[in-house]
Amino acid sequence: MPIATTNPVTGQVLKTYEPMSDEQLDGAIDRADLAYQQLRGTTIDQRGSWLNAAADLLEAERDEIARLMTTEMGKTYAAAKAEVTKCAAACRFYATHAAEFLADQPADAQAVSATRAFVRYQPIGPVLAVMPWNFPLWQVLRFAAPALMAGNTGLLKHASNVPQTALLLEDVFRRAGFPEGAFTTLLVGSEAVEKILGDPRVRAATLTGSEVAGRSIAQIAGRELKKTVLELGGSDPFVVMPSADVELAAEVATTARCQNNGQSCIAAKRFIVHADVYDAFAEAFAHRMSALRIGDPMQDDTDVGPLATERGRDEVDAQVRDAVDKGATVLCGGEKPVGEGWFYPPTVVTDLDPGMRMWAEEVFGPVAGLYRVSSYDEAIELANGTAYGLGSNAWTRDPREQERFATDLEAGAVFVNGMTTSYPELPFGGVRNSGYGRELAAQGMHEFCNTKTVWIG
Ligand code: NAP
Repeated sequence: MPIATTNPVTGQVLKTYEPMSDEQLDGAIDRADLAYQQLRGTTIDQRGSWLNAAADLLEAERDEIARLMTTEMGKTYAAAKAEVTKCAAACRFYATHAAEFLADQPADAQAVSATRAFVRYQPIGPVLAVMPWNFPLWQVLRFAAPALMAGNTGLLKHASNVPQTALLLEDVFRRAGFPEGAFTTLLVGSEAVEKILGDPRVRAATLTGSEVAGRSIAQIAGRELKKTVLELGGSDPFVVMPSADVELAAEVATTARCQNNGQSCIAAKRFIVHADVYDAFAEAFAHRMSALRIGDPMQDDTDVGPLATERGRDEVDAQVRDAVDKGATVLCGGEKPVGEGWFYPPTVVTDLDPGMRMWAEEVFGPVAGLYRVSSYDEAIELANGTAYGLGSNAWTRDPREQERFATDLEAGAVFVNGMTTSYPELPFGGVRNSGYGRELAAQGMHEFCNTKTVWIG
C-alpha cells in the first residue's frame, strides 16, 4: 500500500510520502533508544506533566485534528471530534493514575523468608506499535499514554492511509515536552516491520489490526523472543433475550453496528435474537438502520460516511453478495451505490447459514447479520461459534441470565444492556483469534513493564 492520504469521499489522492530509507529508520530507532535511557530516569510527575500537556494540545487543536482524521479515513467529523476528546481524557487518566499503577507492590515477606519482598514495575525500552486506521488517534493513544508514563519510548508504524495523523501525533508529543525520540512516527510500509522487530534495540511490539498481520508479527516476535500484545479482529455477538427492552436494544444495535461507518473491531456484528422478540426486534432494527443518513462525513447531519478504502468496500460488498447468492435475505441496504466515494449503505441480512462467508468472517462495514434462536443455550452456542472472542453484548433484564452471560460468553468483554466500548478504566482485549494481552487500565500499563521481583534477606 502506498503511504498516502486519499480522501474516501472522492477517491482523490491528496498527499503521498516516500517511505523512510534504511538509514533514516536506523537513526529513528537509535533516537528512540537514547530517549529511553533518558526517559527511564525521569520522575512519574515529570512524565505526567508532559502527558497532561499533550492532552491540553489535543483539546486546543481538536477541530483541526478531527478534520484531518475525517479527510484521511472518512469517519464523521462529530465522531472524530469525540475521538480527540477521548484521547485527551486517556492521557489525563494515565497522568493521574500512573503513580498508583507503578507503585511497588508488597508481598508477604515472611512467607518467602525475606525481611522485605515486593514487585517493582520498570520500563523495558522502545516498543514498536503497528496501528490501524479506523481509530487513528485512539488506537495509538491507548498504547502511547501508558507506555510513555511507564518510561518506555514508542515507535509508531501507522496504517499507510493515515500518514498525516501519524506525523501529527509525533508532533503533539514533541510539543508537549517529551524528549526527542520518545515518540517517533516511522513512515514505512508493513514489509519493514520484520526488520524493525528484529532490531535488538526494539524490545517489544503491539499490533492492532487484522488476524493476518497478527500472525505475521507474532511469528517474527516469537523468533526474536520479544513480547507482543495483539488486538485483532472480532465478530461480536449481540444477543437479545425475551426480557430485554427491545426498542432500546434495537436503537443501541444500530449505533453499535454503524459507529465509525461500521469499521470498529468491537462493533456488534452478529445479532442473535430469541424467537419471542425476533419479529419486533427485526422490524425496529431494520427501520432504524434504513433511516440512517449516508453522506459527506464533514456534514453535521451525516450518520454514516464512506468506508476508508476501496478494497475494504469491495470486501464488504463481496461478503454480502456471497450470502445473497447462497440464499440469504436482505432486510435493508445490500446494494453498493454507484458514483464517487466508497460508500456502503447500512444493511441487515438474515437467513444466514454456515456455508456463507458472513457466518464466520468479520464484516468490516455497516452490515449486520441477524439470527433467530429459540433458547439461551442456542444463543450461547451461536455467539461463541466463530474463531473470534473480542467483545460481546447481551440484552436481558433477568439477573440470573445476566450472570450466566457474563460467564458463558467467550470474549474479552461482556457488556449487558449497553454498548460494548472501551474505557481507560477497564482492560481491553480479546481471546482466541481476537488476540492476546490487554490494553488500558493498570493491566495495559503492565504489559510493557518488567514486573521485577525484589527479595531482601
Ligand atoms: P491490517 O491490514 O492488519 O492493518 C493494520 C496495521 O498492520 C497497519 O499498520 C498495516 O500496515 C499493518 N500490517 C498489515 N499487514 C501486516 C503484516 N503482514 N505485517 C506487519 N504489519 C502489517 O488491518 P486493517 O484491515 O487495515 O484494519 C482492520 C482490522 O483491524 C480489523 O480486523 C479490525 O477488527 C482490527 N482492529 C482490531 C482492534 C482491536 O482493538 N482488537 C481495533 C481496531 C481494529 P499497512 O497499512 O502499511 O498495510
